[in-house]
Amino acid sequence: MSEYSLEFWTRRASEAKPEGKAFINGKFVPATSGKTFKNNNPATNGLINMVAECDQADVDLAVAAARRSFESGVWSHRSPTERKRLLLRLADLIDRDREILALLESLDMGKPVQLSFSSEIPGVANYVRWMAEAIDKLYDEIAPAGPGNLAMIRREAIGVVAAVVPWNFPIDMAIWKCIPALAAGNSVILKPAEQSPLTAIHLARLLAEAGLPAGVFNVLPGFGAAVGQPLGLHMDVDCVAFTGSTDIGKRFLSYSAQSNMKVVWLECGGKSPNIVFEDTDDLDAAAELAASVHYNQGEICSAPTRLIVQKSIKDAFLERVIAHSKPYAPGNPLDPKSRMGAMVDAEHCGRVMSYIDRGREEANLVLGGNRVTIGSSSNFVEPTIFDGVDQNHVIAREEIFGPVLSVLPFDTEDQAVRMANDSIYGLMASVFTSNLSRAHRMSGALRAGTVAVNAVDLTSPLVPFGGMRQSGIGRDNSLHAFEKYTQLKTTWIKF
Ligand code: NAD
Ligand code: MN
Repeated sequence: MSEYSLEFWTRRASEAKPEGKAFINGKFVPATSGKTFKNNNPATNGLINMVAECDQADVDLAVAAARRSFESGVWSHRSPTERKRLLLRLADLIDRDREILALLESLDMGKPVQLSFSSEIPGVANYVRWMAEAIDKLYDEIAPAGPGNLAMIRREAIGVVAAVVPWNFPIDMAIWKCIPALAAGNSVILKPAEQSPLTAIHLARLLAEAGLPAGVFNVLPGFGAAVGQPLGLHMDVDCVAFTGSTDIGKRFLSYSAQSNMKVVWLECGGKSPNIVFEDTDDLDAAAELAASVHYNQGEICSAPTRLIVQKSIKDAFLERVIAHSKPYAPGNPLDPKSRMGAMVDAEHCGRVMSYIDRGREEANLVLGGNRVTIGSSSNFVEPTIFDGVDQNHVIAREEIFGPVLSVLPFDTEDQAVRMANDSIYGLMASVFTSNLSRAHRMSGALRAGTVAVNAVDLTSPLVPFGGMRQSGIGRDNSLHAFEKYTQLKTTWIKF
């Protein structure tokens, strides 16, 4: 581990020459317009590289390439076992490039390189293997249609899939969409967030190296209005898989309505409750998990941002949460000792700070609350906790997407459920209790796509992930992910 020192990562960063071009029809190309935009490192405010600024013309080229490749069958008609083999090669290449992928992720959006290196990138390789291994083990159905009838129900690839993703876990969000879509035989166009295009572009290189035919996977860096919107409105895109804010998610539904009724899958915002009952076995472990709200600078859609804690234990519990939050002090993302890095950019940092200012008016600040300057950048925020938060406060209702925890006390189980469910969101919920019956009651009562008992924010390729209500439509991960990228075909045969 010691070889991965601050000096090591700093040297790797100074040597890195990330690709900034788009990837269309099997080639790295500049935007048709020739335009580029500056890609900055939020932890230094320095320029990383210039990146292709794609627009409608590039969208048209990529969609045409994707369509051609899909119709030709170069990938869509390969056997699932062959598609599996290629994706398993990709997983090996991700392992091989673990250092550079972790580094690019950190430079691009400010997260601690060590966290990306030790958990996210290996998790990505694991995810790719899981999806690759699944695809040749999915059987179709035969309906019980009676003698003289064979009614087959098969899953077919949808066609051209566009993936539009955010910057908080750039490569994870990209592979959550693109890998099941590719495994199922679709052709894919990936539009990374403008803040974090680098690992998406690297993924194109690795898929090409693994042997994926030209046109099957394309990457279009650029801005939302110039690339995301034309993809959403395109008459020849069959499906959009989106992760991002609820506001933009809703726009994709209207893009679809205005164009070709393409299928739209949405993973959007959250304001996840974390309910801690007085009967919790290990309050210190629960407090440590409650403090993980600061992980990834709090830039996590499913972070446990509302700590709903029973009054009888609130003060003692909060003290422990504060103690476990302090080690998340922001630091240089290339320093392996840093538990928290920089916010993704100055604009987002300012937005988080304005929520903190609002919190100072509404509630009691008990930890942090300040913007921090490290070296040449002021895009850092202290881990921040507000006590005495009321259900109607802005900081209890709106997604902040920063290292900010709101603490709300409750008396009874019913009250906790009501508070937890009083949100437009429903992505994730946590419950800490040693009472098994209560755990089951809560899991039934909480309106969230995932309920974690005695844990927070668990994700795995094994289980579906996604939101109820305005947290989204559809589920990523698990075999259910293939439902997004396939459609059912019924064939009747009379004999
Ligand atoms: P965002 O909605 O602004 O951007 C997401 C993507 O949409 C980006 O690629 C962006 O360029 C694109 N986009 C922006 N405007 C667009 C437009 N008008 N038309 C088409 N595309 C457009 O979100 P963000 O700020 O990048 O990410 C933060 C949000 O993402 C948070 O709300 C967070 O909760 C959510 N998120 C959700 C999940 C999940 O799985 N539920 C995971 C991560 C992040
Ligand atoms: Mn960046």
